[in-house]
Amino acid sequence: MQTSTAISVQAFQALVNEIHDISATQAILGWDLETYMPEQGGPLRAKQMATLAKISHNMMTSPEMAEHLRSLRQPGVLEKLDTMSQALVREVGRNFDKSQKTPIELLQEIVETTAEAHKTWVEARANKNFKQFEPVLRKIISLNQRMAEAQGYGDSPYDALLYDYEPGLTVKQLDPQFKQLKADLVPLLKAIQNSGYTPQTDFLHQGPFPQNDQLAFSEQVLKDMGFDFAAGRLDLAPHPFSSGASSMDVRLTTRVDVHDVFSALSSSMHEGGHGMYEQGVNAALNRTPLAEGTSLGIHESQSRMWENLVGRSKAFWSHYLPKLQATFPSLKSVTLEQFYHAINRVQPSFIRVEADEVTYNLHIMVRYEIEKALIEGTMKVDEVPEAWAAKMQEYLGITPANDAEGALQDIHWSHGSFGYFPTYTLGNLYSAQFFNTAKQQNPALENDIAHGNLLTLKSWLNKEIHAVGKMESATTIVQRVTGEPLNARYFVDYLWQKYGDIFNIQR
Ligand code: ZN
Repeated sequence: MQTSTAISVQAFQALVNEIHDISATQAILGWDLETYMPEQGGPLRAKQMATLAKISHNMMTSPEMAEHLRSLRQPGVLEKLDTMSQALVREVGRNFDKSQKTPIELLQEIVETTAEAHKTWVEARANKNFKQFEPVLRKIISLNQRMAEAQGYGDSPYDALLYDYEPGLTVKQLDPQFKQLKADLVPLLKAIQNSGYTPQTDFLHQGPFPQNDQLAFSEQVLKDMGFDFAAGRLDLAPHPFSSGASSMDVRLTTRVDVHDVFSALSSSMHEGGHGMYEQGVNAALNRTPLAEGTSLGIHESQSRMWENLVGRSKAFWSHYLPKLQATFPSLKSVTLEQFYHAINRVQPSFIRVEADEVTYNLHIMVRYEIEKALIEGTMKVDEVPEAWAAKMQEYLGITPANDAEGALQDIHWSHGSFGYFPTYTLGNLYSAQFFNTAKQQNPALENDIAHGNLLTLKSWLNKEIHAVGKMESATTIVQRVTGEPLNARYFVDYLWQKYGDIFNIQR
């Protein structure tokens, strides 16, 4: 005989499954829009996606959902549910509470303002003129501040925004880690620049390296990594991303530059890391919001691990360089050392997305410090370009010539996203911390990678990080897997070891 709680859990899960089916469908429509949709499909596609968003929002905030959550969250009921149902009630309840706390007028204002902001940002960037973007950015910041007030927070309004991307992490926890990271990275960069050595990179950019050969090579590496092509695809898109509908349907995209032999492969490995996280989630969690990566930071740790700790390692290339040379004979005379040094060249530059492993996080520090000050109200919008230039000079030793090379380069603020940037650095920090544990627990790991056996790492990640999906939070996963909370030391040690060797410098 079924108890009333069991019936209520079933009805709750059925509703959650339907809501999730809609968001999975939205994801596929979004993927199609970026890949194969005919040009004229755009305007109606936007309406189709908006209709689905409205339906799922209505289901999510329905009296039926409110009643399910009310009865399942009662003391004495929740604790008796199985672990998965408890996690589901917690996760859905978190989203429900958020939507309850968010005034509908505020949401509408955000949608309208960001649509306008995006257009203004595109124009301002083309004109290299931050002034043009200022009024709408001011509005976006005030909307974000109102959102933070509506959601509530402890010490900093920025915490409330961070919560959307990295739940559980606060400014208080981030600041000391980031401060230490900055203190370690700036001298490392100086030492590299003073080493007097600049790796040769011209052979990476000659070619042409035909598109189909590059795609076939990327696909082979993804297969070797353990990406399952029976449960996923790789297609071309203007901006690489990964998305999908379930652990059995993961869509990766990449872009190919025929005069760059490394970028498509590198971005494929990056997106492959994201995609394998999604494929690795326990299939029992499908059709629920638990069937995805637990946070953006942990997600990025997976992509960064494959892109950098594996894909820019000497071990990896000792196996793959001969294969790459067989595909692209113009690389025939390049030695392993030359290739390894070329793909790890360090050079301060203005554009974040083109930055190397050493300078990348300094770009994030610039953005984090500025956006936190804007949200906390300690910096005014018209002070941004000057603050940007000063921080770039202090951390990277270069000053942007104009706003397009400076504060206008990233799309995030025009989307209304504040609190997103730190997750990129968190991804790098987590990746090194996880990889350190992976090596300790698999002493043959680097040797396996050097022999093209990438499945040792994949299996370890599946078991330790992927399988739980969103049933565990980022902080719980990091503590469980590595035995300690987030610790920037592993990333700094990794960089010093690698770049100390390449540039022959001492800490
Ligand atoms: Zn990523």
